[in-house]
Amino acid sequence: MPLAIDVGQRVLVYNPSHGWTVAYFVRAQQTNDNKLQILTCRLSNCHHKPTSQDHYRYPPERVALNDSIGENVNVGTRVLCMPSGDADTSRYIDKPLRGIIAEQPSNNNNQRYLIFADSDAPFYLRSTAIRLLLEPLSNYLSKVDSGTKQYIENYVLTYPKRRLVNVAVKDHINIELNGQWVDAIVSKVDASLMRVFLPVINKHEWLYRGSLRLQPLFNSPSTYEPPCKRFASDKQPTTNDSKCCHFLLIPLNHGWKRQIRNDLGTIVYASPCGQMFTDGERLHAYLYQTNSSLSIRQFTFDMNCRVTQKFLSSTTVYVNLDDYALGKDKVPLMLINEIDSSLPKPFEYTTERIPLTSDIVIDQTNTHGCTCTDGCLDTTKCACWQKIYDGIIQSHYYEDLIGSLKELFGQSTDEDDDRHNNLDEMRFFLYDALSKRNLGYRHGRLLEKIHSGIYECNGKCKCDSRCTNRCVQFGLNTLLQIYHTSEKGWGVRTLYDLPAGTFLSFYSGEILNDADANRRGLEKTMGDVYFTALDFLTSLKPIPLQRKLKAITQKDQSNDETNFYHDNQQQLFSDQISEIQRNENNHTSIEDKTTLSDSNKALLDHQLANYDSGIYVMDAHYKGNVSRFYNHSCSPNVFVQNVFIETWDVRFPWVAFFTATNVKAGTELVWDYSYEVDTVENRVLHCRCGSDECRHRLL
Ligand SMILES: [Zn+2]
Ligand SMILES: [Zn+2]
Ligand SMILES: [Zn+2]
Ligand SMILES: [Zn+2]
Repeated sequence: MPLAIDVGQRVLVYNPSHGWTVAYFVRAQQTNDNKLQILTCRLSNCHHKPTSQDHYRYPPERVALNDSIGENVNVGTRVLCMPSGDADTSRYIDKPLRGIIAEQPSNNNNQRYLIFADSDAPFYLRSTAIRLLLEPLSNYLSKVDSGTKQYIENYVLTYPKRRLVNVAVKDHINIELNGQWVDAIVSKVDASLMRVFLPVINKHEWLYRGSLRLQPLFNSPSTYEPPCKRFASDKQPTTNDSKCCHFLLIPLNHGWKRQIRNDLGTIVYASPCGQMFTDGERLHAYLYQTNSSLSIRQFTFDMNCRVTQKFLSSTTVYVNLDDYALGKDKVPLMLINEIDSSLPKPFEYTTERIPLTSDIVIDQTNTHGCTCTDGCLDTTKCACWQKIYDGIIQSHYYEDLIGSLKELFGQSTDEDDDRHNNLDEMRFFLYDALSKRNLGYRHGRLLEKIHSGIYECNGKCKCDSRCTNRCVQFGLNTLLQIYHTSEKGWGVRTLYDLPAGTFLSFYSGEILNDADANRRGLEKTMGDVYFTALDFLTSLKPIPLQRKLKAITQKDQSNDETNFYHDNQQQLFSDQISEIQRNENNHTSIEDKTTLSDSNKALLDHQLANYDSGIYVMDAHYKGNVSRFYNHSCSPNVFVQNVFIETWDVRFPWVAFFTATNVKAGTELVWDYSYEVDTVENRVLHCRCGSDECRHRLL
């Protein structure tokens, strides 16, 4: 939400000790998705003595503008209501109250705003006594109970449609009081409000005439949410373009609507039957319950993600291919050349991972499935999710996190508990804690790399494609374009905005063992080398010392850096391979013993059981897919995730690419190759990524 506030502007801030006081705005801090997080204000307006001592930081719910609001503020806006007497309000207000605008001024309500106070009865108030709170409604709703959230959300989204009971003074009506229906007598009606007398407690109370505390409204089901018929919630698509359509446009083609509600600070999706959704949780449950053909992956609540805007290439185009993959991927892969009429060097397009020699055997026998019937929604009970969590619990990457969680668990249990029970209890405590941290797929997106790997649900699971733990297995889903960059050879860009955590593609090609990798790498005539390490195994082990790689015979000392992004990856590789092998042989070295925690070791032993310790490499030189075209950047917008699907053979993870941030249409997709400078002697490779954080050297 754009912040309409100037530096030095008078605001009201809330301190628990002083209540609401005047202050002056200094600066605002926003989250990644542009939500207001913290406002710094100073308590005095003394310009000539600027000290930071009277600067304080406030969350947006504790800051309001000092000026009165106008006459046209939207329903759903958060406001601060100032104390006022009978002339301005329907009742006496003795202290500032926070609330939500529920009606705009009109002739019906005598030109006053209706306010739903946060923890008080509703009232009418003139605009002169109302201040704008800088808190978005979504922020407030994230802190209230789900019943209130749903009521307010529904109210704001369907306004001005609403139901009010018709009453007259002296009417009797049943209202809810502490969970009981009690008799009340109407003593006053003021527009949408009424005052009732409750004989049972001998008190008067103001009520909104649409409140669910009124028995007539509580008993009759809402007319604004027609119940959805199973199997009939989605309209048939208006165009038959699900194959070449941007995935975030598919719901819109099925009759869904997506609105950006700046006033609420959220995106609203409306289903064809009129249901409104402002969060992925409810939307996912709805899609699941109505057996919708749509997937939660096709929706985004990211305010900055434009769904309909497509990137347009320049008008001068020398080469323009509709599908460079020739139908081998799920969606077409476009290729464009706006610089000259050249094409990438030919290779075989494949989405498979093909072992080069028959001695490379991927173990397909070691997977297990889960027995979930809820679409794996309860991740703490799903065996596949548990496997992901177990990896996190045992991995050295998460030692700090797991350590502090275990401490929390220790504080919450009795020392005398049965030891065995305790271990099981702790496991579930950790699962529960991890499930709340958005680790792993969240509504079809991966917001954070899981170093210990993702184990997707597979053919042995009871769940189907609507499960929460399937993503990479569906393959390419985004509309990407290979294009000729001016400096870096070929690159890949997205044609539409992509929300953070979107799966792009996985690395396909040939799987080589280290001997073949060495041999291929040394073939001088090869030009570009498209290697990617299957280094999941080594990443499981804590690295005691930074690896120092010795140079091998340098055959290529030329300064031809035209294709430096893929050049000589191999030399680096063979070094890493030999280094890794040394580490492998050194399994019981002192470093290992001191840094490897017991659980870590157990995991490693378990993972390594039955497998050779060979190092494998994916080579996309002769065979590959779009992944071979991603370039390097020192400030990447793409990250790599190791994923296991139909095999849990730790030597052969799928190397999958996900967006690390919200990526705008037309932006190049780049990942960090993560080479270490000076790891190969006599080798200097300059980076031309052009980012502000550029490390300038790749090698
Ligand atoms: Zn499951
Ligand atoms: Zn499963
Ligand atoms: Zn599943
Ligand atoms: Zn760079």
